[in-house]
Amino acid sequence: MKILISADMEGATGVTWPGDVLPGTPQWERFRRPFTSDVNAAVLGFFDGGADEVLINEAHWSMRNLLLEELDQRAQMITGKHKTLSMVEGVQHGDVDGVAFIGYHTGAGTEGVLAHTYLPNSVTGVWANGARASEGLLNSLVVAEYGVPVVLVTGDDKTCQDANSYAPEARCVAVKDYVSRYAAVCRTPARTAADIREAAREAAVLAVRHEPPHRRPFTIELEFDAEHLVGAASVVPGVERSGERRVAFTSPTMYEGIRCFKAVTTVVSAAVEEQYG
Ligand SMILES: [Zn+2]
Repeated sequence: MKILISADMEGATGVTWPGDVLPGTPQWERFRRPFTSDVNAAVLGFFDGGADEVLINEAHWSMRNLLLEELDQRAQMITGKHKTLSMVEGVQHGDVDGVAFIGYHTGAGTEGVLAHTYLPNSVTGVWANGARASEGLLNSLVVAEYGVPVVLVTGDDKTCQDANSYAPEARCVAVKDYVSRYAAVCRTPARTAADIREAAREAAVLAVRHEPPHRRPFTIELEFDAEHLVGAASVVPGVERSGERRVAFTSPTMYEGIRCFKAVTTVVSAAVEEQYG
């Protein structure tokens, strides 16, 4: 049994503020350790539950946040960016039986600690085939195309509610409870590590690859906080204006959909002006 862990940082134990997850800041340096503790707890739990292999894919910002030297020595990790499937890189080789989303968070424009979808502010909402979409939902659609279930999700309590909508079978651990976008009731790393390890051990039985579903088209819509970003996004082939501050595109599969989404957010982030957005 092989498990892929997609590790994002906003939903990690103790994290509540942009500086906590912004590479290079003293707070980010501090929170690399609790983040690593969350991920390592999942690694230990999956091995407790019978996994033979655990591959971690760094999924936050520069994708070099976790402390490799503190991980269980049975784990392996993809560090660094520019990967075909970005946050769920590694799922495409036909050998992964289950995926865990560790340190995840809710989507742009919804309640949740550090809620956003890919970009911190410029994207105010994302929809996939009409359903409000978080990063968790988008990536769950990607891994589903490879027949791989999401078996474990950790983040704040709102992230657990969100996970319930796209992966109702998955085990969830709320490492903190939402108070505001920048505040939470936090539990200690020792406590959350114990909870995550136990949940991962239980989640291992859910890691059963199934026949990939029939591939189907996905229409993804994004809403921005400024109108000019529509013009910027529309240079990506297939992306059209769908409202005053909205664009939409349709892809035949989620494999193509998530790559187009990444292209749109990359182009849009380059068009964000420092003061006016
Ligand atoms: Zn994220």
